[in-house]
Amino acid sequence: MPPERILVVEDDDVIGRSLERTLLGQGYDVAWARTVAEAKDALTPATALVLLDLGLPDGDGLALCAELRRRMAGLDIILLTARQTEADVVLGLDAGADDYLVKPFRLAELLARIRARLRRQPSDDVLHAGPLDLDVAARRARVNGVTVDLRPKEFDLLALLAANAGNVVGRERIMAEVWDEHWFGSTKTLDIHIATLRRKLAAQGGPGAIGTLRGIGYRLEWT
Ligand code: CA
Repeated sequence: MPPERILVVEDDDVIGRSLERTLLGQGYDVAWARTVAEAKDALTPATALVLLDLGLPDGDGLALCAELRRRMAGLDIILLTARQTEADVVLGLDAGADDYLVKPFRLAELLARIRARLRRQPSDDVLHAGPLDLDVAARRARVNGVTVDLRPKEFDLLALLAANAGNVVGRERIMAEVWDEHWFGSTKTLDIHIATLRRKLAAQGGPGAIGTLRGIGYRLEWT
């Protein structure tokens, strides 16, 4: 297999060079863009993952995130942000990001997140739960026959719940399997993703698809 291509979008020379050197050392193929314009040019069909700094000199990183997501639905996008407010994280996830790291971060943690993102193994299972059909290989979810537009993390989360339909899946297990075992951040992101999933599923098939067991976990009520 050829090395996986990672696009680093970072205008800070020190951070950019450090990321480039580290990723090359790990055997990845690396492209480094310093601006929004360079990033748009550097995205190729071979790009597997983007590390995206939100503060760029020539444009809005969130808008770029949304555009990259539109151009390549299967792309993994990890935000690198100095902004620490929850609102920015929510905006980033809404713009299609899969994960985020707040600067300053440890390179070891970043590498663990990258490995977790690129490790998704294909499967040809199709899961059925009530009105839900989940084609894991095609990464497509349908409710009552209508495709529901899900971001990658939302899909992974729904797939885990659907594989355990009718049973509670603990928060710890969700964080370990959908995010990764090295996730030290807030589990707030899980609640945000659940809320979005509920809204999207409710729009197609009625409310109540996902039950909450407070402090324990979540359960897909469709079986
Ligand atoms: Ca910056």
